[in-house]
Amino acid sequence: MSKRIALVTGASKGIGKAVALSLAAAGHHVVLAARQVDKLEELASAIREAGGEASVLALDLGDTAAIDGKIKGLLATVGQVDVLVNNAGITKDMLAMRMKAADWEEVIRVNLTGAFLTTQAVMQSMIRNRWGRIINISSVVAQTGNAGQANYVASKAGMIGLTKTLALELASRNITVNAVAPGFIETDMTAVLNDQIKEKLLGLIPAKRFGSVDDIANTVTFLAGDGASYITGQVISVNGGMAM
Ligand code: NAP
Repeated sequence: MSKRIALVTGASKGIGKAVALSLAAAGHHVVLAARQVDKLEELASAIREAGGEASVLALDLGDTAAIDGKIKGLLATVGQVDVLVNNAGITKDMLAMRMKAADWEEVIRVNLTGAFLTTQAVMQSMIRNRWGRIINISSVVAQTGNAGQANYVASKAGMIGLTKTLALELASRNITVNAVAPGFIETDMTAVLNDQIKEKLLGLIPAKRFGSVDDIANTVTFLAGDGASYITGQVISVNGGMAM
C-alpha cells in the first residue's frame, strides 16, 4: 500500500510541527500547511533527511475565499488526503466587555471557519476512498470556559460541535472525526503568559507539569491509525487531569 497522506495545518511550529513529525515517523506522507513557508520547507527537509516524505502547502486560513482552491490544487498534485489534522489556531485575548468585533471575527474565521472549509475541501477525496481520519485540535477551555478568551473559547467549542456533526455525517463512509482537547502545552502560544499565571495554572494540573507537544502528537497519531477505527465523535482530553 502506498503511504497515507496526512495534511496538517499550522505545521510551522508548536503542536502542528510535532504532529507532522510524529505522523511522518509513523509512515505517512505529510503535507505541511501554514503561512510561514520557510519554516515549512525547513521541517520538510528534516523529515526527508530522516527518511520520511513531506510536501509544503502555503495556506492562510484567514483568507477563507482561497482555501477551497488551495486544497483542490493540493489534491491535483498528491491525489488524495487520507488524514486531516485541523491544528492551526490563534488567540486575540480580551475581556468580552472590551473585545473588538474584528478580533472576535478573526479568531472565529481562522480557528473555526478555516477548519470547516479545509475539511469540506478534503471530504470528497475521503468519501471516494471510503477511508478517512479527521482530527480537530480543540482545547480544554472549550469544556471549562476561560475569562478573557470569549472568541477563542467559542471557536474551540464550535470545533467540538463540528466534530460531532461530521462524525454523524461521515461514519458510514468509514471516516472518523474526533477532537483532541489539549490542556496547557508549552509552545509559543503559552510562552506569552507571565510566570504568575503559569504558577497558578500549574496548581490546577494534578499531573504537576505542563504538557509537551509530543503528548498531543502521540494522541493524534493514535487517532490517525487503524487501531482507532471504532473511535468517532469523541473529544479526547490530554490535559494532565486539569479538567475531567
Ligand atoms: P502556535 O505555536 O502559536 O502555532 C500556531 C500554528 O498555527 C502555527 O504553525 C501558525 O503558522 C499556524 N497559523 C496561525 N494562523 C494561521 C493562519 N491564518 N493560517 C494558517 N496557519 C496559521 O500554537 P500551538 O500552541 O502549537 O497551538 C496549536 C493548536 O493547539 C491551536 O489550534 C491551539 O489553539 C491549540 N491548543 C494549544 C494549547 C497550548 O497550550 N499550546 C492548548 C489547547 C489548544 P504560521 O504562523 O506559519 O501561519
